[in-house]
Amino acid sequence: MHDRAGRIYSAMKRRVGPRYRGESMTDPGRELPFSREQFEQWMLDMIFKGKPDQAIPCCYCNKWINAGNVWIDHFIPIARNGSLDLDNLLACCQQCNVLKGKLSPPAFDATRDFIFRLATMEGCNQKDAVELETRLRHGSAGIRYKAEKEFAAKQRERKAAEQAQLETPW
Ligand SMILES: [Zn+2]
Repeated sequence: MHDRAGRIYSAMKRRVGPRYRGESMTDPGRELPFSREQFEQWMLDMIFKGKPDQAIPCCYCNKWINAGNVWIDHFIPIARNGSLDLDNLLACCQQCNVLKGKLSPPAFDATRDFIFRLATMEGCNQKDAVELETRLRHGSAGIRYKAEKEFAAKQRERKAAEQAQLETPW
């Protein structure tokens, strides 16, 4: 647990820390409100209840996880002004953490309900659920691409209209 706590702490620190472009700091970032030692103690006491070798359930899907593969989630995402404090942290599995991303807790619940409904629908199975999860994760790139193309097309239309107006001889 010692190593895992250290890695999670470093990753968290990097995520909220200062941003640089080249040599110059573009954003001073924020300090974590606890030390590495405090974080490890919190994991030991609050997550593993004093037994670092025991398996614990993921707080979202109840899958068994342990000190080797535990992920720490900001319940209210940092990107949504969630607190950096220990009381905004939960232990979960990697899949739940990646799927949740920057979703608000209600949006994450709805996403999981949706996947669960699909997985339990007649004719669908666990594979469909996994596939859907992957598509949701990667598909957003496709949606963004479509939106960008539509925006560019509108811009071209507007420019053409402006040009046509300039060329009108009155
Ligand atoms: Zn999970």
